[in-house]
Amino acid sequence: MTKMFERPKLDAEFGDDPIEVAPDIWWVGSRIKDDPFQCHAYLLRRGDQSVLFDPGSTLTWKETRRKIDLLVEFDDIRWFVVHHQDPDICGAMREIEESITRPDAAWVTHWRVAVLLKHYAPKLPFWLIDENDWQLDVDGRKLQFVFTPYLHFPGAFTTFDSSSGTLLSSDIFGGFSSDDRLFTAGLSDFDGVRAFHEHYMPDRNILLNAMIKFELLPIEMIAPQHGKIIVGDDITTYINRLKNLDCGLYLLAHTDTDIHHLQALNNLLHDTIETMASEREFRAIASHIFGQVADVVPLIATDLICRLGDDRALWMSSSDRFRGTAVEVPAGFRDVGESDWSSSDTSAAVSAGLPVTVLEADLVLPLFSASGSEFLGLAVLRMEEGFESTAEFNEILGRIAGPISLAIEREMFDRLLDDERNTMYERSIRDPLTNLFTRRFLDEAARQAVELHRRNQDAGFSILMADIDHFKKVNDTYGHLAGDEILKKIADALISSCRDADIPARFGGEEFVVLMPLTSTTEAAALAERLRSRVENLRPSTDSGRVDVTISLGVAMHRQAETLADTIKKADVSLYEAKESGRNRVCVSTD
Ligand code: GH3
Ligand code: MG
Ligand code: MG
Repeated sequence: MTKMFERPKLDAEFGDDPIEVAPDIWWVGSRIKDDPFQCHAYLLRRGDQSVLFDPGSTLTWKETRRKIDLLVEFDDIRWFVVHHQDPDICGAMREIEESITRPDAAWVTHWRVAVLLKHYAPKLPFWLIDENDWQLDVDGRKLQFVFTPYLHFPGAFTTFDSSSGTLLSSDIFGGFSSDDRLFTAGLSDFDGVRAFHEHYMPDRNILLNAMIKFELLPIEMIAPQHGKIIVGDDITTYINRLKNLDCGLYLLAHTDTDIHHLQALNNLLHDTIETMASEREFRAIASHIFGQVADVVPLIATDLICRLGDDRALWMSSSDRFRGTAVEVPAGFRDVGESDWSSSDTSAAVSAGLPVTVLEADLVLPLFSASGSEFLGLAVLRMEEGFESTAEFNEILGRIAGPISLAIEREMFDRLLDDERNTMYERSIRDPLTNLFTRRFLDEAARQAVELHRRNQDAGFSILMADIDHFKKVNDTYGHLAGDEILKKIADALISSCRDADIPARFGGEEFVVLMPLTSTTEAAALAERLRSRVENLRPSTDSGRVDVTISLGVAMHRQAETLADTIKKADVSLYEAKESGRNRVCVSTD
């Protein structure tokens, strides 16, 4: 009577005994001490049609053979499946063949593997899966071969045993292991799988292609050649995770063989691109990216110095969360031609004039516009003393320089636009000759002041009107241009006499109005008197000597029920009184 299959417990460990992991599928691997690449061989016990998967190397064969001998006669094994040609899979080819006496045994593999394995000059024939409809019937049990090219060998494939739902996956789903547990325990083992695939699998799309094929199979167990066996919910989880995994980290590697370090660098690159896509605000982007860099290397601070125009540069530092301060363009920026910038000569080129000193351990990264033609500025990465960069980090830095430059370019453009908008606005609200506010701006400010006073009786304001005395005569005597200069000087006096909250405006040709929020007539009259006296003492000079010029002023307070026009009218009446009563004086409306 055959014993019913009973799956080992999930916390089972592998060791000296063969372990039946699925009905008739036995783990017959050999434990290699202190090796993160534990190699698992599997035996499908099927009478004299038994199958051995990924047999192993000289290093592991003795132990695997010992386990096999506990299960079957060696000559019961007819099929030797090698999923690819790695030495840890078929290094023991010769030794194995020495033990085989049956004439019909064969190496089961893909032609691409066979063309290499033939160099071991095997005695047994190759049974090629691609010439046999990708399947093999072993005594009624169907093995289906799933082609998984380039994972990680061009002719790599896997085997699916449909009767037990077992995928013998060879390198795919393989992982590093630091213990002897046979099965995965949820996601805690995925890191070993992730590192293995990110490095040894060449490309995300190639891995995705295999995962899509596997999803179509009713898999109940995945038995890889390295790492841990996957069962239950972990199967879907691991497949989904591998679908989205980055691969090809060895494309990055040069001198750095630290897998976790390479992984961190790669994550940094992808994180940077994701941040660029999801964040709009430069400060958030820069804080995030350089925060990530600091997770990988001992980065202390980052300074970005970027050209804003011919004479100004923007200095954004991690110390003020990249808020940005305008500085003079550093000398190095001015003197070095744009084509001269390269990472090697940067430090020398900018040593003079940067707002930050560049130390030996620091990294200086030139930043260029997306088109590559325009030099934007520099990123200075302040590193811990003694830091020495690796080729891999430099490469990553070079790659994130692109997205950072793009973010900077965007930021500079935004700032330029803001500046321009401000200038345009200033222009629209200022009179070009006198720099006083325009009448339109005064109207808008007064509208708000009237509204405020309507709602709050304590928010009263005053209006001051001023008019130059006998200005026509000044023009006639000294010329219109001299008149303009005098007008400007009087306007300057007006502007500098006002408080910040006051709105001094050019009301007409040589007439001015000042709106004084929260100001009584007494206070307004005091300002008016101060102003009168200043203008009287101004005595502006012209080509024909100094000119005596005076102004007359009228002051009125806004009453809650009044319109702006009413108040201006009152001030105008007072101004008229000042003119009538001899000019160069202030009259205050009592209405
Ligand atoms: P009053 O004391 O009564 O105000 O005498 P006035 O000559 O100043 O008054 P009037 O309104 O007759 O003349 C105003 C003069 O101000 C006429 C005009 O040429 C001059 N004026 C107005 N705007 C400007 C300007 O932008 N530049 C110059 N140079 N003169 C101006
Ligand atoms: Mg006038
Ligand atoms: Mg006048």
